[in-house]
Amino acid sequence: MPDAATEPRGPRLVLLGKQGAGKGTQAVRLEEHYRIFRLSTGDLFRDAAAAGTELGREAKGYIDRGFLVPDDIVIGLVREQLAIDDRAQHGFVLDGFPRTRQQAAELDKILDGCPLDLAVDLDVPTEVVLQRIAGRRVCSNCGANYHVDNPPEHNWTCDVCGHEVVQREDDTPEAVMRRLELYEMKTLPVIQHYRRAGILAHVDASDETEEVFKRLVELVDSYFDAGSRAL
Ligand code: AMP
Repeated sequence: MPDAATEPRGPRLVLLGKQGAGKGTQAVRLEEHYRIFRLSTGDLFRDAAAAGTELGREAKGYIDRGFLVPDDIVIGLVREQLAIDDRAQHGFVLDGFPRTRQQAAELDKILDGCPLDLAVDLDVPTEVVLQRIAGRRVCSNCGANYHVDNPPEHNWTCDVCGHEVVQREDDTPEAVMRRLELYEMKTLPVIQHYRRAGILAHVDASDETEEVFKRLVELVDSYFDAGSRAL
């Protein structure tokens, strides 16, 4: 991905954290706040599955059982998305990628010449994410997030687009347990990868969305204010 090195730009961020840590919600907020490109591999797979493409059918087989989609498929998809989307040149936030050590190493190659600014680990205790996921509901069309304690206004139809709001097929107890195990096994090494690179930051994400978002913005702004990069 070529870089316009001298042009002002937004941050290049990766969001890490367990399922239910709030990566998706915070990525959308960061996208709006910094006007940067957002890439969610989970959303890409769900869109492809809804459209019935070959990629979508293949990914769905893994996703619904709580497995990770194989690295070569995910890496190919991310490479393609970052290459075709010019907006990524002005900063981006990656949600749900990288999730394995190999994906992290490949991302470094894809970003050759314009490295990440920060990898932010959204810290939430496992008991809290289990509670969040059990009550999580999503719009079957646009992916907007709800919770049984915070439902849409009208009878489980989405406030944003009016489609049905449902439980994700991979939010069943069995799939959730597998995803948490896989997180420990596959994604903790990614945190190590970024610690070694000196760009890892932690944010306590066990509070309300708004509070966590404030912490994230303070972190990102202080990083840029410190003169590490020109915004
Ligand atoms: P998410 O919406 O980020 O929780 O992703 C939903 C599911 O998509 C995950 O549980 C995985 O099955 C799959 N997935 C998303 N991103 C990746 C990735 N980077 N590597 C492998 N599988 C992924």
